[in-house]
Formats: sequence, structure tokens, C-alpha cells
Amino acid sequence: MKTVIMAGGRGTRISELFPDIPKPLIPIADPDGVEKPVLQWEIESLAAQGFNDIILTVSHMHEKISSYFGDGSVFGVHIEYFVEEAPLGNAGALFKLRSVLGGEPFLLLNADAVFEIDFNRMVEYHRAKGAAVTLFTHPNSHPYDSGLVIADEQGVVLRWLTKEDVRPRYYKNRVNAGLHVIDPSVLDGAGIDADRVGETDADGRIIRVDLDRQILRPLCGTGRMYCYDSPEYVKDMGTPDRFHSVSADFAGGIVKARKLTDPQRAIFLDRDGTINKYVGFLRSIDDFELLPGVAEAVRIINSSGYLAIVASNQPVIARGEVTVDELNEIHNKMETLLGAEGAYLDAIYYCPHHPHKGFEGEIPELKIDCDCRKPKPGLLLRASADLNIDLSRSWMIGDSENDIRAGINAGCRTGLIGSWQFGQDIAGESLLDAIGKVLSKCEYERVCELQKNASGSR
Ligand SMILES: [Mg+2]
Ligand SMILES: [Zn+2]
Repeated sequence: MKTVIMAGGRGTRISELFPDIPKPLIPIADPDGVEKPVLQWEIESLAAQGFNDIILTVSHMHEKISSYFGDGSVFGVHIEYFVEEAPLGNAGALFKLRSVLGGEPFLLLNADAVFEIDFNRMVEYHRAKGAAVTLFTHPNSHPYDSGLVIADEQGVVLRWLTKEDVRPRYYKNRVNAGLHVIDPSVLDGAGIDADRVGETDADGRIIRVDLDRQILRPLCGTGRMYCYDSPEYVKDMGTPDRFHSVSADFAGGIVKARKLTDPQRAIFLDRDGTINKYVGFLRSIDDFELLPGVAEAVRIINSSGYLAIVASNQPVIARGEVTVDELNEIHNKMETLLGAEGAYLDAIYYCPHHPHKGFEGEIPELKIDCDCRKPKPGLLLRASADLNIDLSRSWMIGDSENDIRAGINAGCRTGLIGSWQFGQDIAGESLLDAIGKVLSKCEYERVCELQKNASGSR
């Protein structure tokens, strides 16, 4: 599969830090202190995954980029360059490259971001869905001013809001990351005269093509564009602040550790009584209220390298008291409230079942003795299979015995909010208190391990 990397951005804001080098050549260091240009890390990662056929679209200071990477053979790949003399918009080059792209889907990546992705997993998803376009989407820490992707349960993209668009009151934290799998047929069907791209129109303006506005967003609601939700690391490094945060994450090993080919660590969170105020069976969205300190606790998880994943029993579905759509809207409220405070969830799993039959209004097919209702470990096992989570290095935190037992049954360590004894590893007064204890325990163990290794080698 071919990979097109858009590496022509001027990087005006970040050039304050690096005035003499183009953005793709800005160096960042890994945990061992090895320093390489951002784009080199990305090309090496692509090469290691079998994506060896790369086209770089370049413009600003392009000679520096091509003299660094050459034909790519030093890096185990083949690189061709498309030099954009006049700006063609971020998709103009694709039309000039149309014959080179052929008939097979290609990866289209934006070099403005730092990422480490299991691309084969994404391409498999694209193929399994039979998609014409797959967008890489993820939750981020500022959904309120990001472009949002709204999709159905199957991942079909229905709407795509820009940051300026009015958004629904409550929405899923699902942001477009600028990484795509694209079937070239969507270029042919976009109604753009490829020969005219780069020429001057009647008003004297250069004809450009904007990827999102002209090619991708028109596919919303057609059933041909899917989103691929992933907790992997993708962050823009366009401003000095963002650059510092991204390079700290890279040096801290967080960027690579989140690639889904590597086993992940998660902190599973119960919902009612842990994240939101306990009100018995929560049936009305108006009753959903975050507990104090929860957003801060989730922000801390987000920065820790652990995934933040909700695992919740919602028998209200089987009991016919809340529909799946209503539950999704309650979860949209949870994500919106957390997002407003810079916190995000990497995934939400819930059990809709309930074992006892014979109530009015119930949904008979959900009235089963399932394997996912906590204290059973099914939700955690499913998350583990989906996201390659090492349960023995993960935690389950909740406010009831069922949470602790589900965690133990899944092979996780456990934390209770409260003061009972259910065999948990730690107990806290609140989620924030519990997360503090989990992380300090892990840090303590890490230091002990280092010390043991050091004394072993003395
Ligand atoms: Mg609870
Ligand atoms: Zn269940």
C-alpha cells in the first residue's frame, strides 16, 4: 500500500523555535535520548510495518527534506517527492499524483502531527468495512474547540463539524486526527477537474483543493466514509506549547507505548457512584452529574499512560427503562462534561443485561445470565481483546463489591471508593484519592524494581 505524507506545511507558529528547518525535520528524542527528525521516526515506523512505498508532498524548504531523506533507501523505504511550487491546497497534490496512486487504497498522513499507530490494524478495519474512506478518530483533551465526527453504531460517519460549527449540547468526544485510508475513486468522484488544479481561475485565483471541505465532508451520510476510533497517540505539534508537550511525551515513552501492537495498561472505571453521583438506577439524563474531582482524576489517568475505560452495568436497558439511544446520550453528556474540563475516556463498555425475567416492559432477549454483568469479568475481557490490554498490569476502580470482584475475576488489581473490605488492593475516599494511590503504588513498585535490578548488577 502506498503512503502519501503531506509534509509541505509552513509551520509558521512553530518556526519561532526552529526558524531554519522545515517542520518535518524538527528533532525529537526518544526515552533513550536518541534524537531524530519527527518525520524520520514516522517513516521508520511505517517501514517496520511494511509500508515502504512513500510519496512526500513537499513545498516549504523542500530541498532540505529531500537531501535528508534522499530516495529513502537508507531508511528501508522508497521515497518519491512531489514538489508543490504554487500552493495547491492540502489535496491538490493528490490530483497531480492521480496516475501514480493507481487503483488501490492509500494511506494519507499529515506530517503536522506526531503519531505512532498500528497502521495494519486500521487498514484491516477499512477493508472489513468495505469503506471508501476511513478517518482515524480519537478522543482529545479539548473537544469543545476541535472538529467533531459524529457516526452511527457501525462507524458510518454521519456528520463532521468544524470547530466553528454549532455543536449539539452533548456529543461523543471523537475528533478527526488527520490520518486516513482513501480509495482513489473518491478523488475521481469529487467533481474536480484535475487539469485545472494549480491554474488560475477567472478571478485570478489559483485553483486549490481542500481535502476536508471538498473531498471528505461531502461523503458524510453516504455510507462510504467510516471512522476508526483508536486510543493511540496522535497530537499536533504546531505551536511551541504543543511541541513541548509532544516532545515530553515522546521522551517519556508515552507515544510509542500507546501503539496497539504493544500491550496496553488500563484503569477501568465503574460509572454510577464512581464517576457520577449515585442516584440508584439512572434513568434520566438530567440526573447525571459528575462527582467532584472526577475530571481531574481522569485527566491524571490521561497523562499517566494508562487508558481510561468505563465498565458499567446498565440493567436499565434490559428492564426497558432506558433505550440504547438514551444511554448513548447519557454517555455523550458524560464525555461532554469531562471534555469541558480537559479529560477524556478512551472507551466505554457496558452490560445491558439483567438476569431476572418477568417484569413489565422488559426486553426479553436481554434478560439473560450473561458473561459481562459485573462481578463477571466479561466487559474487561472484551476491552482487553479489543485494545490489547494486559489485565495483570491494569486496575479496576469502583464503589461496590461487584466492581472489585469483576476486577479480581479479570486478573486486574483493584481499588475501592469507600471503606469496606472486599479484598481490594487500595481504597480511597474519592476517585481522585484512589487514582493518586494507584499511581503512587505503581511508581513505588517501579522504583523498587529499578533498585532490585541495580543491586543485582552490582
Ligand atoms: Mg457503582
Ligand atoms: Zn451482560
